[in-house]
Amino acid sequence: MSEALVLFSGGQDSATCLAWALDRFDRVETVGFDYGQRHRAELDVRDAVRDGIADVLKAGDRLGIDHMLDLGLLGQISETSLTRETEIAMRDDGLPSTFVPGRNLIFLTFAAALAYRRGARHIVTGVCETDYSGYPDCRDDTIKAMQVALNLGMERRFVLETPLMWLTKAATWQMAEAIGGSALVELVRERTLSCYLGDTETRHDWGMGCGDCPACDLRRTGYSEYRSACS
Ligand code: ZN
Repeated sequence: MSEALVLFSGGQDSATCLAWALDRFDRVETVGFDYGQRHRAELDVRDAVRDGIADVLKAGDRLGIDHMLDLGLLGQISETSLTRETEIAMRDDGLPSTFVPGRNLIFLTFAAALAYRRGARHIVTGVCETDYSGYPDCRDDTIKAMQVALNLGMERRFVLETPLMWLTKAATWQMAEAIGGSALVELVRERTLSCYLGDTETRHDWGMGCGDCPACDLRRTGYSEYRSACS
C-alpha cells in the first residue's frame, strides 16, 4: 500500500497537491501548521476544502486523518509580514517581506517526523519555483537537499514529492481540471484562500482575496491565463 502525507494549508497550491495525491496513493493524510500567522483564515477553510476534494474525487477512506501541528515558536522568532503587522514589500536583498526564514525547512522536518510515525513514504508539498515570489526554500535544489538530509537523519527512504515545482499558476489550474474536471476547479476557486491578508469577504471571478497583495496578483493572473487558454 502506498501512503502519502500532504502539507495542506487550504490554499490553491496545497489543495491541488491533495487532489494529486488522492489520484495516486492508496492512503493520504494531511498536515497543517499553526505558526502564529497574522491571518488565520487560511487555517479556517482547511476542513471545508479537504471535505470538498474528498467528495469531488470520491476518495472515501483513501483520505485519512488531518494533523494540525502547533509551531508557534516559528511565529515567535519571525519578523515578517506574515507573522507581524508590517507592510508587504520587497526587501533590499530582493526577497519579499513575506519570506519566513526557515519555514519550509521546519515544515518538512516536522512533516517527515510525522510521516515516520504514520508509516508514510511520500511527503507532498506544493512548493513551486516557476511562478513564485523567489523564496529560496521553495527551490528544487533546497527540496532535494532536504530529502537527502531527512533520509540520512531518520534512516528512511522518504520521497519529497513536488508536483507543482515547474508549473505556472495557469498550469496548476489545468492540473486540477485534469484530475477532477470542472467540479474540482470550481471547488478550488470557491473555497481555497491564498491571500496574504486573509480576506475571505471579497469575491472575484478567481476566488476570494483582497485583490491587491502579491498572492492575489499571482492567483488572478494565473486564473485569467487558464481561462483564456480554455476559450
Ligand atoms: Zn490578497
